[in-house]
Amino acid sequence: MNDVKAVDVLIIGAGAAGLMCAITAGQRGRNVMVVDHANKVGKKILMSGGGRCNFTNMYAEPDNYLSENPHFFKSALARYTQWDFIELVNKHQIPYHEKKLGQLFCDNKASDIVEMLLAECDQAGALVQTHCSIESVTYDEQMSRYCVDTSLGTITAESLVVATGGLSIPTMGATGLGYELAEQFGLRLLPRSAGLVPFTLSKEQLLPFTTLVGSSADVRVTCGDQSFRENLLFTHRGLSGPVILQISSYWQPGQSIEIDWCPDMDLSDYLLNAKNDRPKAELKTVLGNLHTKSWASVFCEHWLSNQPMNTYSENQLEDIAEKLHCWKILPAGTEGYRTAEVTLGGVNTDDLSSKTMEAKSQKGLYFIGEVVDVTGWLGGYNFQFAWASGYAAGCFV
Ligand SMILES: Cc1cc2nc3c(=O)[nH]c(=O)nc-3n(C[C@H](O)[C@H](O)[C@H](O)COP(=O)(O)OP(=O)(O)OC[C@H]3O[C@@H](n4cnc5c(N)ncnc54)[C@H](O)[C@@H]3O)c2cc1C
Repeated sequence: MNDVKAVDVLIIGAGAAGLMCAITAGQRGRNVMVVDHANKVGKKILMSGGGRCNFTNMYAEPDNYLSENPHFFKSALARYTQWDFIELVNKHQIPYHEKKLGQLFCDNKASDIVEMLLAECDQAGALVQTHCSIESVTYDEQMSRYCVDTSLGTITAESLVVATGGLSIPTMGATGLGYELAEQFGLRLLPRSAGLVPFTLSKEQLLPFTTLVGSSADVRVTCGDQSFRENLLFTHRGLSGPVILQISSYWQPGQSIEIDWCPDMDLSDYLLNAKNDRPKAELKTVLGNLHTKSWASVFCEHWLSNQPMNTYSENQLEDIAEKLHCWKILPAGTEGYRTAEVTLGGVNTDDLSSKTMEAKSQKGLYFIGEVVDVTGWLGGYNFQFAWASGYAAGCFV
């Protein structure tokens, strides 16, 4: 491709949002091209959901998203819902199942979703080009066209869609190009940070948990006003598992999190009953029935005590219950973009139309997907926003 190529719509980024936008615009008869610098399309889709892609969530609704403006994404999510995407998956006869909490995964492999999107692009006449690096982007006011110099030649377009995703997992092709383009065209950015990411702990904090690495526990974790109940996983760097990934998106450095090790039960009552029923049993044996024996041993050794139940007073048992229901820990940090599933923050939604995703101050320039300051919970919500925002822009580009 050495000559100048002219298209109606140029989409930078052949990920979830970019491909959905290409399909939608192509189906409207627009001449669409998608370019990506990676060697294959949809790398994050391929690695998502442990290789099975948690492609949407049956219960997705606006409450499952974080953004400086919690109203921005309502319109897009309402116009292209999880049921619309499920219909597309059904049309392609891709087998899937609900794993838990409305999370839909492919039965076979995530590549089923990428192949489906590529087949739809093909049918809609949208051209997808990999191995294409972006060198510069300019806007010709007189022609009302974008001029994009790439490693494969110059492409001009009436509409330019930025679908370059977030910063997480740089080894998978993540770059900050989308943010640079936003700034170049005068859009504001909100601070970015790693979301859906494991917490790290200091060496001293990690020491007591050495024997627990690899084990998990069903807990409730709270940070500020937000709490989640799911599994926590002890790792050799700190804490992970779905409940930690979820709460990490609400966490600020320097903030403690509170872990309820015995959620939705009255531990005080449980311990008082155990004192009556098993007076000679040690505390760690009694607590061992709630999680694992090693968990109980670690907690008794480091933060509680370990005596026969009949030696504890009622007040002491209440204190123990209180400690385990409201156990505070101050994470040292997060594992960062290296392992984060998403990037919080990004293009300020105040500068975009919630209906079309077009920049308010720059005609024909659109931002969709994770590059925008909209972040979903763990569980298929991020893909749902990628599909929905891609569709929203695709209807107007
Ligand atoms: C390990 C992991 C697992 C995940 N699992 C799930 C899950 O199961 N369910 C869920 O809902 N979400 C999941 N997510 C989040 C989800 O993958 C993203 O939110 C989603 O992919 C965002 O879509 P997007 O199209 O905006 O960006 P992406 O899918 O990241 O696509 C961006 C595209 O832009 C291209 N690009 C970037 N920079 C440039 C450049 N300079 N030039 C050209 N092209 C460029 C990239 O190569 C990429 O193809 C997961 C994320 C990770 C990292």
